[in-house]
Amino acid sequence: MSKILIIGAGGVGRVVAHKCAQASNVFTEITLASRTESKCRAIAAEISFPVKTARVDADNVPELVDLLKREQPKLVINVALPYQDLTIMDACLETGIDYLDTANYEPRDTAKFEYSWQWAYHDRFREKGLMALLGSGFDPGVTNVYTALAAKNYLDEIVELDIIDANAGSHGQPFATNFNPEINIREVTAPCRHWENGGWVETAALATKRTFDFPDGIGPMSIYRMYHEEMESLVKHIPTIKKAQFWMTFSDNYLKHLEVLQNVGMTRIDEVEYNGQKIIPLQFLKAVLPDPGSLGPLTKGKTCIGVIARGIRNGQRKQVYIYNICDHEECYREVNSQAISYTTGVPAAVGGIMMLTGTWRGQGVFNMEQFDPEPFLERLSVMGLPHVVVEGEWPEL
Ligand code: NDP
Repeated sequence: MSKILIIGAGGVGRVVAHKCAQASNVFTEITLASRTESKCRAIAAEISFPVKTARVDADNVPELVDLLKREQPKLVINVALPYQDLTIMDACLETGIDYLDTANYEPRDTAKFEYSWQWAYHDRFREKGLMALLGSGFDPGVTNVYTALAAKNYLDEIVELDIIDANAGSHGQPFATNFNPEINIREVTAPCRHWENGGWVETAALATKRTFDFPDGIGPMSIYRMYHEEMESLVKHIPTIKKAQFWMTFSDNYLKHLEVLQNVGMTRIDEVEYNGQKIIPLQFLKAVLPDPGSLGPLTKGKTCIGVIARGIRNGQRKQVYIYNICDHEECYREVNSQAISYTTGVPAAVGGIMMLTGTWRGQGVFNMEQFDPEPFLERLSVMGLPHVVVEGEWPEL
């Protein structure tokens, strides 16, 4: 019996619940808990497998501990917001339950993306014989596993890594984000950092632009360099990497709106006084933007997320590109969500399967590249996200 507790009933939580229910031979009982229980109930009503629901404020450790003691799951999948990572890890430690998430902890008042806070839990998880798996989404997540696959099967040494994330889909809205707008805009407006020769190089947000010719009929698109958390764990665990960069596509329309919103102060994350009360402009903006969950039926087109690893094989320079193509409309037909939530939720469920079946096991806090990539990718393919491996030559970015 492997009972699972999913925390967070947003776009990603919906996909995790659907996919865990599809793997009911592993997840024999499922509870979905979130701040607003009605959202959990709405998701549960879409799924033919029984999904129990609960209300929890995941900022509150005693509330979480009560829920975990009551439910006694084997694993918590945290797909609430990055702000809740540490409180949920604390509750897991207190109740002796394994933990998995898809995004690194962020304090609310600074958009800093680093694993230090969560890595600091390693000894406490190890001492209790528990496992925490960090970043089991697509990026971070599958991109870490693709890099591990390149290191295992295709290159003796990875020297350069480009992680490239394209959303070639369109939702037809003037401006909307594909996942939580607050988290998305904090990430996109943060200063860019990439890894070069043993250190981080900081440049202005979205200041470096290239064009990349994407496969599967997507074709050339503009990509912008930005910081992304998986680079931090990858350069730590695969120290041969001399240069690591993360790239994402943005439409001109998205960037135009974002620039205006930034210029007028709507992306600020500090408090401002409004009509006698304190508000955070970015949180107010989130309240007026389209709910990413509402974009599901509107979004058409594909995503293409992957890594180009460049390095040495048998003394020769060699490059390999490993990627997945996902179709927004197919995802919506299957689980009522667009591909951004789908590509995050499916790897979270597969990470859970790896842990609960003992295929990936360890005591302490781990990132995805620390485990054998192949069983994860085999299961991921079966569950909807197959990958393509191409050996060839790509221009330096
Ligand atoms: P949503 O905003 O759609 O959903 C977040 C959910 O968490 C909501 O149900 C929300 O509840 C709930 N929640 C927020 N605060 C609390 C709290 N204090 N206690 C309990 N529940 C809470 O976000 P997404 O589904 O788009 O994203 C979920 C996670 O996935 C985020 O951490 C995001 O960073 C991550 N992500 C990772 C990606 C990857 O590839 N690795 C890609 C995309 C997202 P309520 O409905 O009441 O607000």
